[in-house]
Amino acid sequence: MSLSTTQVPRAFREDFVRTGYRAPNLTAKQCLASLFECHNETANVWTHLIPTLFFAALAVQCAVVDEKPRAWPMVVFVAGLVVNTGCSTVAHLFSTMSVRSRHICYYIDYSGISIVGLTVSIGYYYYSFPLGGVALRNRYISGSVFVGALACFLSCGSRHYRVDAWQKSARTASFGLCYAYTTLPLLIRIAWADRWEFILVGHVAHVALMIAASFVYTAKVPERFWPGRFDLFGHSHCLMHILFDFSILLQFVCVRFDMENREGMTQWPVPTYNELLLPLFMLIAMNFTIIWYFISRMSPRKERGAKSFEKRRKRLSSWQEHFNFRAM
Ligand SMILES: [Zn+2]
Repeated sequence: MSLSTTQVPRAFREDFVRTGYRAPNLTAKQCLASLFECHNETANVWTHLIPTLFFAALAVQCAVVDEKPRAWPMVVFVAGLVVNTGCSTVAHLFSTMSVRSRHICYYIDYSGISIVGLTVSIGYYYYSFPLGGVALRNRYISGSVFVGALACFLSCGSRHYRVDAWQKSARTASFGLCYAYTTLPLLIRIAWADRWEFILVGHVAHVALMIAASFVYTAKVPERFWPGRFDLFGHSHCLMHILFDFSILLQFVCVRFDMENREGMTQWPVPTYNELLLPLFMLIAMNFTIIWYFISRMSPRKERGAKSFEKRRKRLSSWQEHFNFRAM
């Protein structure tokens, strides 16, 4: 069943999207079944479900084919992409179960984005770092854990701002900060480059795609100019997902290229399990604490409000059916 803006609670509405909403308070089974239905989250789910399956296959291939310890950071890097797109898929698919579950779904989504910030940092640290930059290198991974947790905290908190426009801007700013920190070694490498290597063009293109994705998401283009016309496909969130997918695919290609072509140039030590997994476990623990904090702060009153909204909506539609029948 496809509903219009006025038929769903405010927390479920998207600016400039007028129709195509799923019914609020669906069960988990109904959400899963909606994977094959046409609604305004269908494109958002599939544009991250397909990359999740693709990168999962790639992670398995990296783990099986590249057995050398030097390839372990690449497995972590690709696994981070799987976590990121996977969390997003789950969030978009199950976000209509209740207002409370919607918040929790997107907390998980934001946690996935902060985790990919760290796994990308691990990839850059071992394969793409500039040959100098020792001071940054020594603090880079620990800084990435801190910035990732901060971005998760700020973006989870942004869901509870009163002004909708501030929510998306604050979220983009917090993940922009995380992304800028992660990308810092690349910017230094580009700035220090004696000559332009082909691979640097790839790194710049990936950053440009990510900036374009952030712009489309924050500016709500194109539905801002044609409200209601892009309700199902082609809206800003869907376009942001597609630009993001191409960006991380290009990012993977570039880091893989660096891994295969810079081995002799760098003197990096062989990674150990502790070096790879300890920062990840720390960030996961911090994100878990942040999510728990925001869940514990959510008022049950809002949940009751959403349920009573749904009851009123059902009562109203039954009255409408009754009067339509009487008028015939
Ligand atoms: Zn999304």
